[in-house]
Amino acid sequence: MPVPMVAGNWKMNTSVAEAIELSQVLVDSLGLVQGIDVVLCPPFISLEAVSRVLQSSSIELGAQNMHYQEKGAFTGEISPMMLSGLCRYVILGHSERRQHFAETDQLINLKVKAAFESSLLPILCVGEVYQQRQNGTAAQVVENQIKSGLDSLHNVSGLVVAYEPVWAIGTGEAATPEIATEMMGGVILRALTELFGTQTAGEVPLLYGGSVNAENVEAYMQAGSIHGALVGGASLRADQFTEIVRVTSRVKGDS
Ligand code: PEP
Repeated sequence: MPVPMVAGNWKMNTSVAEAIELSQVLVDSLGLVQGIDVVLCPPFISLEAVSRVLQSSSIELGAQNMHYQEKGAFTGEISPMMLSGLCRYVILGHSERRQHFAETDQLINLKVKAAFESSLLPILCVGEVYQQRQNGTAAQVVENQIKSGLDSLHNVSGLVVAYEPVWAIGTGEAATPEIATEMMGGVILRALTELFGTQTAGEVPLLYGGSVNAENVEAYMQAGSIHGALVGGASLRADQFTEIVRVTSRVKGDS
């Protein structure tokens, strides 16, 4: 089974000073947690400062996005080369990027390839919108996102996949563990197996994301096909995030 993981997506929140403070509190509270990968994804401008705070801990750093080109005339963008060496992970294909910045599966595929080429580990986000769940196309949508996002990749060692139903993100309406299990242990695992074979597919950590908090996280972690969580809003609260990591570590350690 993959190593459990909890990643915090801070989105467009925190000043540099606030990012340093939050990461310091988390280093203090999570310093002793073992057997779990913990990843913080602050805004770009705080990556360097947070990386210094994390130096003495096992908590890893991730970016929230990147361009797929190494360099060039792309005003305002950040390249894989700029992130490489600074952080280990990069969130790609988040639904907010798909929704507000018109990111397509083809673009996300270019980014995933560029991440691997720069030794960054992609956290590839997939998930259906509410209407697609209502009209019964959720499984097809997510399967397509996986297959297009990972098209023509051969070595996906270190890949992480996050299932984040868009209707559950930031809404307080988390998907039931049954829906999450059906999509993750069913649709996503099947698609990964078709692409890369049973062994490789079984090594990919599958994270659930969408209104995860300290109160509901245990129900997800009890499910065998869920290896961790991608946490948005609750990752900005040190007490909540610490508890989510502790519960994940305990439940997954027992299973
Ligand atoms: C996210 O943005 O990745 C996310 C899961 O957000 P939230 O936990 O706030 O629903």
